[in-house]
Amino acid sequence: MMSKTLSSTNANHNLGNYDEVYDSYQWSEVEKEFSWSNTGRVNMAHEAIDRHAESDKGNKVALYYSDQDRKEEYTFKEMRDYSNQAGNVLKDIGVVKGDRVFIFMPRSPELYFLLLGTIKLGGIVGPLFEAFMEGAVKDRLEDSGSKVLVTTPELLGRVPVDELPELEKVVIVGNDVKEDDQTIDFHRQFERASKTLDMEWVDREDGMILHYTSGSTGKPKGVLHVHNAMIQHYQSAKWVLDLKDDDVYWCTADPGWVTGTSYGIFAPWLAGVSNVIRGGRFSPEDWYQTLEDYQVSVWYSAPTAFRMLMSYGDKILQKYNLTSLRHVLSVGEPLNPEVIRWGMQALDLRIHDTWWMTETGAQLICNFPSMEIKPGSMGKPIPGTEAAIVDDQGNVLPPNRMGNLAIKKGWPSMMRAIWNRPEKFQSYFLAGDWYVSGDSAYMDEDGYFWFQGRVDDVIMTAGERVGPFEIESKLVEHPAVAEAGVIGKPDPVRGEIIKAFIALRDGYEYSDELQEEIRNFVKKGLSAHAAPREIEFKDTLPKTRSGKIMRRVLKAWELDLPTGDLSTMEK
Ligand code: ATP
Ligand code: MG
Repeated sequence: MMSKTLSSTNANHNLGNYDEVYDSYQWSEVEKEFSWSNTGRVNMAHEAIDRHAESDKGNKVALYYSDQDRKEEYTFKEMRDYSNQAGNVLKDIGVVKGDRVFIFMPRSPELYFLLLGTIKLGGIVGPLFEAFMEGAVKDRLEDSGSKVLVTTPELLGRVPVDELPELEKVVIVGNDVKEDDQTIDFHRQFERASKTLDMEWVDREDGMILHYTSGSTGKPKGVLHVHNAMIQHYQSAKWVLDLKDDDVYWCTADPGWVTGTSYGIFAPWLAGVSNVIRGGRFSPEDWYQTLEDYQVSVWYSAPTAFRMLMSYGDKILQKYNLTSLRHVLSVGEPLNPEVIRWGMQALDLRIHDTWWMTETGAQLICNFPSMEIKPGSMGKPIPGTEAAIVDDQGNVLPPNRMGNLAIKKGWPSMMRAIWNRPEKFQSYFLAGDWYVSGDSAYMDEDGYFWFQGRVDDVIMTAGERVGPFEIESKLVEHPAVAEAGVIGKPDPVRGEIIKAFIALRDGYEYSDELQEEIRNFVKKGLSAHAAPREIEFKDTLPKTRSGKIMRRVLKAWELDLPTGDLSTMEK
């Protein structure tokens, strides 16, 4: 690992001194921000939208929306009115508190009105990524017992309506929709709906959103989050995203994944900040243009995107004016030190890694803007939480020992259930007190956490535990390597040997010499025992739709085993 630290260059950040805040912070300090401190009742959508609409931020732009065909802006007042209207459409078809309303459509302003409208009714919203095929859609609607589905004419063909007895209504967002007993034309009903809606004031422990996980390690799980999560969304918007009133913020994640809601919707709007949503797929020109056009100041994306931008080269980047950017963050996969070096050189900014997962609801271990960064480390726990490395019995391990990354139970945004699977929910908790993440990591003597790999992906070779992440990071430092996925391949002598799957950058071609050169590069740069014994070259690596390398698929290919649930795999 790169041992050099990167100091903070930003003197004016929201958090202040990390250690001081960490030592004294109590979550109750932030609770007075929200309505429940006066009334005992709350609603996330009120706190994120209506509260600002009714303040001097009413005419501030809440949403800058654009895609290939549309370019629109909505103020907080307009977001309040339109989410009320969308809420009324749903109310008229019988949506009440606790009902599951799933939304299966590409990003559009209507998606956000409907998502907020559902929450205003006390409903539990379930966003589904637009690329899901029929089986994946069916599984999730069935598992959740969804009463209403919102979709588009284009995607309706992937919804097996007749096989879903609990599904009562299908709301279609599109042109020329034919209505019948079950089918609702969203636009027609929206036009007629009132702009005022009686907010369903709920308890902070009431359900709000049901997210299915990314499916990197197996069948996706339905993770339930409650309104109380807003405490952590709001606080992390301040401390980690470092949002201030005049920021323009862009989170690139689709709302089908937890980052796209917790940090694409709730956190920025709770903080009252202008939020950029860009529809459509990734393209470097398009993304740089979006940063420039909206003068984005705070940008939250993922390693896979940064690696792609990196491999497109700096020539493209130089065509754009990105001087508005002041704070950049990453989530979803380990952030390779090489990517941080690229950020320093190409953007003249540190990229801040943040670690969390669908189940945790919000950021937990982060590189705070006020803190020194150790490239390759996920950073330190957010004040108000406690993280540790524990063994399989729940005993806390000393620094520098690899083990289970665990969080002390009870942070505000923690999941409250795995839908329909109480035993699965219980299985996350060890010795009662620790939530065990399924990730393997160690903590150094300065309290920084270092990701090693998924627990299931840790390689046992010649009696040593090796995390795939460090090897992958070294591999992508090689100029020919665009992406790398490393697995343990069973071996009669060594237990496992290290096998690397590699996608080359444009302009490079496979040769035996290149393979040998890459192996030696790891040997020299890391260690002999970490050098992959086998290297296989692929055009692309198997990834989830949210951009994560699927090592379980690499392993299944290698061992000729069934690949398991592929509903979230990028095709
Ligand atoms: P599934 O649980 O269905 O297998 P998943 O774990 O990929 O899928 P998510 O909840 O979207 O679903 O992802 C959380 C996981 O992503 C974490 O457990 C971790 O392995 C990885 N991850 C997220 N952020 C980071 C990070 N900053 N560094 C390293 N890994 C990260
Ligand atoms: Mg997971």
